[in-house]
Amino acid sequence: MILLMDEFLFIDSIRPKSYRQPSVQQGIGDDGAVIRQTAQDMVIAVDTMVEGIHFLKKTMSPYDIGFKSLAANVSDLAAMGAAPACYLVSVTVSPDWKTADVQDIFRGMKALGDTWNMDLIGGDTVTGGELSVTVTVLGFTQRDRARYRFNAQAGDVIFVTGTLGDSQAGLHLLMNPNSHSERFHGHLTGRHQRPMPRVDFSLKLAHIKRLALNDISDGLASEANEIAERSDVDMHLEEACIPKHPALAAFEPELQTQWSLYGGEDYELLGTVSTQEWDDVQKAAQLTGTPVQKIGIVKAKSGEQGRVYLKKDGISRLLQKKGYNHFK
Ligand code: ADP
Ligand code: MG
Repeated sequence: MILLMDEFLFIDSIRPKSYRQPSVQQGIGDDGAVIRQTAQDMVIAVDTMVEGIHFLKKTMSPYDIGFKSLAANVSDLAAMGAAPACYLVSVTVSPDWKTADVQDIFRGMKALGDTWNMDLIGGDTVTGGELSVTVTVLGFTQRDRARYRFNAQAGDVIFVTGTLGDSQAGLHLLMNPNSHSERFHGHLTGRHQRPMPRVDFSLKLAHIKRLALNDISDGLASEANEIAERSDVDMHLEEACIPKHPALAAFEPELQTQWSLYGGEDYELLGTVSTQEWDDVQKAAQLTGTPVQKIGIVKAKSGEQGRVYLKKDGISRLLQKKGYNHFK
């Protein structure tokens, strides 16, 4: 980042003063970070956000960009049942970005990461044509307790946390500032700019032996299809059970359907669990203040491969795996 500030000064400005994770032997300051392994399983995920593709300057402040880029990664950890521990950040900075704004990106990440005592342990800083932020996260699960997409079985209850479609509704409001001036404006834009991953709920499920989990980054339809395909089962969803925030009622019914089924970036959790352990899931939801809703059941596959069906007004239709591309 030669254009903005001395690279070493910049790295120094984002370097944590101390590390909180006992697994961190070496963080920023050498050629690589060192994490001491324990008896747990380590989960690693990476995600990139690019200006103009994943966000626009007019809809996301630098702080929001940082918060959300770490949130997207932490949500993947939650979907694996892992406790967040550390993150690394590779930033490409374009000439039109000021150093103070890049530091704000790191402030946004730190604000979210502090929730679980996460440590920033390394990264890379380069200049390039457009701003992009690549975050890599590390987390830990108890041995053999990762929540795989292939864990769903016939007879399972299908559940989802929170409400769906909020993030895309929020984006709609940010792109069309005068379209709706209603009282939920802040809720919806907040859900788009600073999504809160469902880590605490996921960790409270640690005692449940078998659980399939997926986080909703690309929309319910897409994530449900991933579980159905990987688990080789059919998923039967009820349209009327899909949780929507009251704010969505202000929009056209087609938009409500579009956003709640295909709108991504809500970072809620979609899961399946045996009927016997569904009670435990509801208890974990209560203990962590997480809204959770049963939205369907898993059945043995009826065709060649696992599929998703959505029942509306008594009629069941295939729910295709399609996502939502906002700036394309
Ligand atoms: P190297 O040349 O060995 O790759 P760098 O000069 O790129 O080292 O980085 C020095 C230290 O600063 C390393 O520990 C690296 O992980 C860390 N670092 C560089 N950029 C970032 C960043 N954007 N976020 C966090 N740590 C960073
Ligand atoms: Mg380097």
